[in-house]
Amino acid sequence: MVWAFVTVLFLSALLIFGCFCYTFKKTENNEISSAVKKLLLSGSVCIWLYVSAIFIESDIISAVLFGLYNICDDAVVICLIIFAEKFTGNNDRLKGGKKLIYIYALADSVFLLINPFTKYMYTFKTFTGAFGKTFHYISSFRLFYAFHLGFMYMGIVIVFGILIKKIVSMPKIYKMKYAMVFISLCPVVSINAVLLNFETKFDYSLLFYVIVAVASFYFSLIYVPRGLMDRLLFFSVANMRYGIICIDVDGKCVHANKTAGIYCDAEMNSENVDIQVKRWFSEKISEKSKDCSWETQKRIDGKIRNCSIEYKQMFDNSFRYIGCFFLINDHTDDDEKLEAEKYRATHDTLTGIYNREYFYEETRKLIDKNPDTDYCIVCTDVKNFKMVNDIFGVSGGDNLLKVIANITANLAGGKCVYGRLTSDRFAICFPKERFDEDTVLYEYSKVSRAMGNSFFKIYIHIGVYEIEQRDVSISVMCDRANLAIKTIKDSYQNTVAYYDEKLRSSVVQEQKVIGEFENAMAMGQFLIYIQPQVNVDGSINGGEALVRWNHPQDGIVSPGRFINILENTGLISKLDAYMWELSCSQLKKWNDSGIENVYISVNISPKDFYLMDVYEVITGLVKKYNINPKSLHLEITETAVMSNPQQQLKLIKELRQFGFIIEIDDFGSGYSSLNTLKDITADVLKIDMGFLRKTENIEKSKIILEMVVSLAKALKMEVITEGVETKEQAVFLAQAGCDVFQGYHFSKPVSVSEFEENYLFKYITI
Ligand code: C2E
Ligand code: CA
Ligand code: CA
Repeated sequence: MVWAFVTVLFLSALLIFGCFCYTFKKTENNEISSAVKKLLLSGSVCIWLYVSAIFIESDIISAVLFGLYNICDDAVVICLIIFAEKFTGNNDRLKGGKKLIYIYALADSVFLLINPFTKYMYTFKTFTGAFGKTFHYISSFRLFYAFHLGFMYMGIVIVFGILIKKIVSMPKIYKMKYAMVFISLCPVVSINAVLLNFETKFDYSLLFYVIVAVASFYFSLIYVPRGLMDRLLFFSVANMRYGIICIDVDGKCVHANKTAGIYCDAEMNSENVDIQVKRWFSEKISEKSKDCSWETQKRIDGKIRNCSIEYKQMFDNSFRYIGCFFLINDHTDDDEKLEAEKYRATHDTLTGIYNREYFYEETRKLIDKNPDTDYCIVCTDVKNFKMVNDIFGVSGGDNLLKVIANITANLAGGKCVYGRLTSDRFAICFPKERFDEDTVLYEYSKVSRAMGNSFFKIYIHIGVYEIEQRDVSISVMCDRANLAIKTIKDSYQNTVAYYDEKLRSSVVQEQKVIGEFENAMAMGQFLIYIQPQVNVDGSINGGEALVRWNHPQDGIVSPGRFINILENTGLISKLDAYMWELSCSQLKKWNDSGIENVYISVNISPKDFYLMDVYEVITGLVKKYNINPKSLHLEITETAVMSNPQQQLKLIKELRQFGFIIEIDDFGSGYSSLNTLKDITADVLKIDMGFLRKTENIEKSKIILEMVVSLAKALKMEVITEGVETKEQAVFLAQAGCDVFQGYHFSKPVSVSEFEENYLFKYITI
């Protein structure tokens, strides 16, 4: 009997250990599997310790082994609690309680270890079994053993509690899993409890450990509830957003989910699903086509829905036909979402018309699709749109843009593409024959009225590019139309401008100048020409330095062709500094060869004041070349002075203090000529005859000229008149009191050598 008990126990421990090894090798490493591993290992060790304690002959070793077995029993209970927690997902609920459990187990272990000497818990006896073998067993339990039992039962109660809670809360299909572990624990507990009341030699409840161990292992790691797959699949199909209809080998509908039911109007009549399927079979599915799909429309709840139907056959592992299914995908909402997204990406949020990118894209398509039609790009721009925002507020500005968008849309109608390019710029691509300048002007003139404000009139400028090169990008075409607008940007009218050959060549010229400038500077292609200035007595002791570009292909190029462009791009300051340096170095050369009392007038562009420290640069040059500042006359235009009077007047004062002669260039061309005179303290007033030449009434201009000269005189300023073309002009100006003359009547601007040879210190009779 003892032998049988011991053998069965040993084998059961072996089985538990086998499960441990399997878990160790085969299952993935997670919290549950590691809890199972601990439980299995502690269980098998526990049984082996018990078997060894019974089996061993030595009293003392047996006593120690019994102690270790009981300690291991505690460990099994702790592992069981941890397993129950992980298994049920009831993680860490015990938190603080767990510490108490460990302390309790530790105290219990100490008592168990010292029991062989104290015998407070139990005592041992031996008896002789078959084959004369002596076995040990625990003979009588003392009161202190209750401490150990208390721990065991408390642990079991916790585990039962965790399991019962889980069983109650889980859906039916999962209950079994937890219930089985619960049930497996019952024999151990109940037999142990019963045996306590009978003084048996051995703890037979240990025989049932194996059930607990195997059940825990199997139900936590291996077991999948039966039918779970079917149920999960059923529910996922039932709740799918796709409609699905399953057909068996006989062509009978075995399942149609809710969505499919709605599609087939099955709520009205369940036969409708069969009717629909039959129709599909007869209309859409041919013998040959195994799997196929098609698009269809269906009215559901009064709304047309776009659906795609997919037909698929199913085969078993031996490739025998077992049925088929229809998948119904109602993609109306997806389509609408996509549409909305596309709309957002392609339309301007404020006005609802095409945005720039989409305008480009659609225009490109339109032009490419109709190679025989001629098109033009019409761009619009609101004059002073910033001011509209200032006056009417941002919402007023927005309203204006909406009005323009409406007019643009009406003008375009069909066959045209239109859109908003940037803030106040709109564009239409017209077939040329449909574009009518007057209509466009008339329609856009309604903008001002639409704003309902008679104080502030809104002007729309229109630029037209008649498409000749169809292969350039639409953005370049719009740039061309916008470039045309630039030519009318100052106009106070609703005006149309065309991108034409002149504009094109000016753009080309502009790009050419910008592209070649740096290299031309480096190669020294900019030359100084001097236009002699003739004193009233006919003597010449200076002139104005005027730049000439000695272009390798184009020859000598006049500044009129490039100064503006350089001013617009900010390159002018480099050229001017260079011209000043050339002038200073020329003055120095003259000085060195003994020629004194000669001067050169240099031009200072209004832009220079923004682009560099004019004072620093120009005084630096004078110091560098060690020349008298009086020999460098500085021509500053009236416009430059008046653009920032305070700062400019201060600068002029400083330049004069340094010793330069300051000339007010182009006097009379600005807005506030007489006003300027009031504030400015300059040395010379330079009047351009050209401004007066433009008037019809010569007598009047003569009077004005006389007045200006006498005014300058009264202000102690010298007067130079440039643009003097005839003898009469020179005589008249001399009589009027003019001090110096410059003009074609005396000489055109000439090279430095020619100036030296023919003009410097020569006399010309007026
Ligand atoms: P500006 O400073 O008013 O120079 C006078 C211009 O009038 C010169 O043209 C000169 O050739 C021209 N001119 C002289 N006498 C007569 C005449 O009797 N009749 C007519 N119709 N024109 C006459 P240019 O040399 O072509 O220079 C044009 C403009 O270019 C200059 O006007 C000046 O504003 C600018 N410029 C020339 N060189 C420079 C420079 O080095 N720096 C800067 N910033 N501007 C320069
Ligand atoms: Ca000048
Ligand atoms: Ca001038």
